[in-house]
Amino acid sequence: MGDNVKLYNSLTRCVEDFVSIDPKIVKMYTCGPTVYGYAHIGNLRTYIFEDVLQKGLEYLGYDVKRCMNITDVGHLTSDSDTGEDKMEKGARLEGKTVYEIADFYTKAFFQDLELLNIKKPAIIAKASEHIDTYIQMIEKMIRDGYAYFSNGNVYFDISKAHHYYQLSGKNPDELMIGARDSVEEDQSKKNQADFVLWFTLSKFENHIMKWDSPWGVGYPGWHIECSGIASKYLGEYLDIHCGGIDNIFPHHTNEIAQSEAYFGHKWCNYWCHGAHLNDQSGKMSKSKGDTLTLSKLQSEGYSPLVYRYFCLNSHYRSQLVFRKEAMDIAAHSLTKLRNKVTKLDQSGKLLDEQFQFYVLKFKEAFSHDINTSQMLTIVYDVLKDGDLNDLTKYQLIKDFDRVLSLNLTVEMDEVINDEINQEILEKIEQRNQAKKDKDFLLADKIRDELLSKGIQLIDTREGTTYEIMD
Ligand code: AMP
Ligand code: ZN
Repeated sequence: MGDNVKLYNSLTRCVEDFVSIDPKIVKMYTCGPTVYGYAHIGNLRTYIFEDVLQKGLEYLGYDVKRCMNITDVGHLTSDSDTGEDKMEKGARLEGKTVYEIADFYTKAFFQDLELLNIKKPAIIAKASEHIDTYIQMIEKMIRDGYAYFSNGNVYFDISKAHHYYQLSGKNPDELMIGARDSVEEDQSKKNQADFVLWFTLSKFENHIMKWDSPWGVGYPGWHIECSGIASKYLGEYLDIHCGGIDNIFPHHTNEIAQSEAYFGHKWCNYWCHGAHLNDQSGKMSKSKGDTLTLSKLQSEGYSPLVYRYFCLNSHYRSQLVFRKEAMDIAAHSLTKLRNKVTKLDQSGKLLDEQFQFYVLKFKEAFSHDINTSQMLTIVYDVLKDGDLNDLTKYQLIKDFDRVLSLNLTVEMDEVINDEINQEILEKIEQRNQAKKDKDFLLADKIRDELLSKGIQLIDTREGTTYEIMD
């Protein structure tokens, strides 16, 4: 089963054949949200990619055991070990308790997942509820010489890790420079790039979420939560670990170091990272503040599944720039697609051989490093295939929608944003004027500009209209 699935592995920087440790079960860990604010649509792009990965593997017949954490403690405002805890900062800004903040944004996150047809991982674990697991791991790492207590904190000694630089591809000098640039030399650390496993009160006096530990009252570092939760629920070996590309360093690099130190062997075989969604000004990030959330998108007239369709149109490893024009095209295409599917006549007999032929093609597209745009193309190929009857087309698309999850068999109109519609009409007006002025160069330029955005102008005797291309 699934012998020919190929996945890009960030660890080896190659597309590799995927082979799970247990031939039937895939153990998959995906880093969850930091719940001090709403997820932005960039975060959600990563969860969509992970959802397709899980469902694609299930489509191939694997049983996917997936675990996700909820970061409700320990992630500081800086990726190095400095700054305020993100949760505490969120609570301070909103005048609520950390627990209220965590609870509110965790619920909001699950609501987003539901709206995007993202399957909830079978195991969801809050970082704050697994303190004993981290303490027990840290104790063992200290015993085995991988970690040390110094000046109030417990650190991981990166010089003891076997392949510390493999995942990030960074070199030790780069890391040293990075560490020196960002904070003044920390005398407590053996190596400047050592990271904290456990913080104690001595450093963070006002911290609200804190627990007793052998090293004093304090709280865990950010990275240990994922190693702890993954090991508790998925055991000593992982098949796949996912996250956004920004997680490669330091988060996943440190997860590998801790887990391999703790277990004494290689921990996870495949590391899959999704590229970022950018806005016009660059990477979308929670800390930048004014980011696009799913509910903002909805208030602008886009349904969550249009966003899912927009994401599936590009490969998960390619950066994607959020553009409203592209969302309008996605809205239009999805409506058209659903209209075609729901109009299919469902009487008659299923053509088994053709059905299997397309299922294979769909599986191949997924197996080729999750080629979602090709998976969508196959949906269109099915609709166009004159040798298929309607029932077979319908059943195929319904089957593919187990992975695509776009509600393709449900009749729904996606509203095209009026503002954008207005913009196109204005461009048409400008082009008409240019033609009247005999400025054909400008007229053609306007037409080509629209065409490059997937908007085709149609000149008729009654005037110019437009069509958004599939
Ligand atoms: P956070 O809640 O900030 O910890 O992030 C949750 C997930 O979203 C992580 O897997 C991040 O790597 C990922 N992520 C963060 N920013 C982006 C972005 N702009 N595009 C795609 N994924 C992102
Ligand atoms: Zn993580």
